[in-house]
Amino acid sequence: MKTGSKVVKFGGSSLADAGQIRKAAEIIQSDPERRFVVPSAPGKRFAEDVKITDMLYACYEKASLGENFDVDFQNIKNRYQEIIQDLGIDLSLEAEFETIRKNLASSGREYAASRGEFLNGIIIAKFLNYEFVDAADVIVFGDDGVMDRHATRAKLRERLEHSENAVIPGFYGKSVSGVVRTFSRGGSDVTGSLVARAMRAAVYENWTDVSGVLVADPRVVENPVVIPVITYKELRELSYMGFSVLHEDAIFPVRTAGIPINIRNTNKPKDAGTLIIPDSDTEETVIRTITGIAGKKGFCAINMEKAMMNSEVGFVRDVLNIFADRNIPVEHMPSGIDTLSIIASADAIKGREEELLAQLREAVNPDAIEIEPDIALLAVVGRGMRRTRGTAARIFASLAHARINVKMIDQGSSELNVIVGVNEHDLHQAIRCIYDAFISSTL
Ligand code: ASP
Repeated sequence: MKTGSKVVKFGGSSLADAGQIRKAAEIIQSDPERRFVVPSAPGKRFAEDVKITDMLYACYEKASLGENFDVDFQNIKNRYQEIIQDLGIDLSLEAEFETIRKNLASSGREYAASRGEFLNGIIIAKFLNYEFVDAADVIVFGDDGVMDRHATRAKLRERLEHSENAVIPGFYGKSVSGVVRTFSRGGSDVTGSLVARAMRAAVYENWTDVSGVLVADPRVVENPVVIPVITYKELRELSYMGFSVLHEDAIFPVRTAGIPINIRNTNKPKDAGTLIIPDSDTEETVIRTITGIAGKKGFCAINMEKAMMNSEVGFVRDVLNIFADRNIPVEHMPSGIDTLSIIASADAIKGREEELLAQLREAVNPDAIEIEPDIALLAVVGRGMRRTRGTAARIFASLAHARINVKMIDQGSSELNVIVGVNEHDLHQAIRCIYDAFISSTL
């Protein structure tokens, strides 16, 4: 692939009707490096609208039960026909519709869902005058439904190497035995990432309906600013705390290849969006000390105290074994000289509290042990913290100022993330006061 080439993926709301498709086409055509296009199926045009993918799932349900699905199918056809007509292209999808109708019940639920991207891909390729490459020919699944990375990369390279411009529909592929399979919902992101990786793209542009990743949840902070640049590691920390940006399987292919992702807004193409970059060489990219602030409720702390705990060899191991044997993930483990707390998800220990306490008592014989419920974790993430002194002081001063009680503090060795445990009912206030201290004050 020519250096500098871009893979561009457009989400469903960016392609919901002809007007949106025109915007996407303008974006694609304004930069000759945007050579490979990965479309989703048409999404919602307005809040109460239904995505084509959901219409297809519903249609399949009826077909598989032997019920009449004519009306549902006609509604799907109508949406595509309206798009074709409004775009003014000379294209008939009658043959494709007939094949889909015939195969709907027998080819499976994933086949049905995949047709949303398939049909949209044909339309967009025609409108752009790009080659259409059926994802069934290049995205390879094993018979277990898991995508085969190596086979997919090889197929994509072989097929696209000599292609100047192509549209590859997102979300689906085909298994070795010929069955159409899909990724989980939102999976067109994964296809885009795979194409970018295979073609060694300079950047993977992911076009959606927001101008990037926000510093904090807009339901908590009013009008938060966009994160201009974030590293893959920071994104991982924030995603753990509930930031949802891309399909989680979309990160791995491009991350391993060191390819940046640029999240952009189809409705505001001039906005630079958020650039997700590899973890190395990030010094010059630091714009703010704090990159993002995230919080998550639903944790509890198992607090243990024992005199001379520090010199009791094997104490921590014995505690962790109890959790491992019961398959309870340990999220964090803040400790003091004679104290140790295990932070776990409240759901993971629900209904097993007494049993867990009894087992811990038996294993390590603590002087005191209790479960503290209703813990929320707050993550203050930023690669800029590494070289800025006084960040922790500012975080805790702002929490103290708001009279928020800090229950635990955990800073990883990467100095990328400070995790603070607070009571659930203080979480939103805590996020707001840290946002004010680090972000509002710099605007
Ligand atoms: N159309 C699929 C969905 O709605 C895949 C995607 O849009 O990424 O989940």
